[in-house]
Amino acid sequence: MIDRETIKAAKAVDMNIIFDEFNWEKDRYGRVRCPHPNHNDSTPSCTFSESRNTCKCFGCGETFDTIDLYQCLCEKVNGRVVPFYKAVEEILKLEDIAKGSGGNVAINNSSSQACGYQFGGNKSSQSNVQVTNGNNITPYEMIVGNSKLLTGYELNYLHDRGIMLYDSYVYDKKIYTAQNIDKALQTETDQNEINRLNEIKARGTFYKGIAPILKANRIQIKHNYWEGVNSIIYLVDYEADDEDDLCLDKFYMNTERHMAVQKSLDGSHTKRALGASDFNFITQELGYNKNNDIYICEGIEDALSCVMNGIKSISLNSIANLKSLIHYLSEEHALHCNERFVICFDHDGAGRKATEELKGFFEAYNQNPPKNQKYDYAALDYPQEFHDINDYWKSRVFG
Ligand SMILES: [Zn+2]
Repeated sequence: MIDRETIKAAKAVDMNIIFDEFNWEKDRYGRVRCPHPNHNDSTPSCTFSESRNTCKCFGCGETFDTIDLYQCLCEKVNGRVVPFYKAVEEILKLEDIAKGSGGNVAINNSSSQACGYQFGGNKSSQSNVQVTNGNNITPYEMIVGNSKLLTGYELNYLHDRGIMLYDSYVYDKKIYTAQNIDKALQTETDQNEINRLNEIKARGTFYKGIAPILKANRIQIKHNYWEGVNSIIYLVDYEADDEDDLCLDKFYMNTERHMAVQKSLDGSHTKRALGASDFNFITQELGYNKNNDIYICEGIEDALSCVMNGIKSISLNSIANLKSLIHYLSEEHALHCNERFVICFDHDGAGRKATEELKGFFEAYNQNPPKNQKYDYAALDYPQEFHDINDYWKSRVFG
């Protein structure tokens, strides 16, 4: 649905339409306050170039095209995180509305339509009006803002799931990071302990850590303490310098520039997705296993199990995002030769239903594929006794 031409068209929309949409006023020198949500700009430090249709902030150094501007102002003014593809759609809609009103660029009344809900641009009092001040903080910003560096707590949680960020040995059902072992060996004087450490190195199973792959895929894992509960944060950040590069990338990250999955570590493992909650790709880049399969998983920890095995994966983050993935596969994904999608959803009712739905999509697509390129797909047949692919992986690590 979203191709290069559409993106170009959105970038060509008169930036003034967006300024007007958010009542983002210019001062007498034609400057605006910085639209970036993280830059609290009290005096306008952003210049607008009519010829380039971009603006540049001299406070924080950011440059904004129409799509950047729209996304930033949606977040800054309305506390609404808008995925890239949605921003493109909504900008084009704004232009339609502006043109529809007889070429009058200033739209002050029908403005809310494109954004999906009412906000404080017009003066009529709506009950669900969002307060338009620059200090509005979204739950996403709040969580990201008070997240701290990864601690041993999260690391242990991941280790329990057989997921190792750093090179590690598994010995007697315990995980030891290689660095810790080597460090201990340098200072240890007790011969028994030295023997034990050496035995772990010699007889333990070695696993390569996935931290570099996560880094390459712009996934950070963080610690968050919130209302008395520890949680692990998976922060996915696709913010690219040039969106065009991302679009042309092998995997077009169409869905969002950033998102976070927060999972409480209090035993209830309550999960919530923040930002634009959608699926994300983890494409492995270390090349230690040349595998053309892409495993489609329900959760991020399932996807990380695949990464441990050198397999590219997709985490839906919620089975509810299946529709979004199907849309992507149907309209946007560029097929690659030898590439195969492998469905590995959970062994429960929802997982089985989603498997059938996705298989149904592939089947229907392949009956009349555009450009005669068919999807190669399969459903993973892992033992029924395991609820999900991560459970299965755990049994392989610790079993
Ligand atoms: Zn700025």
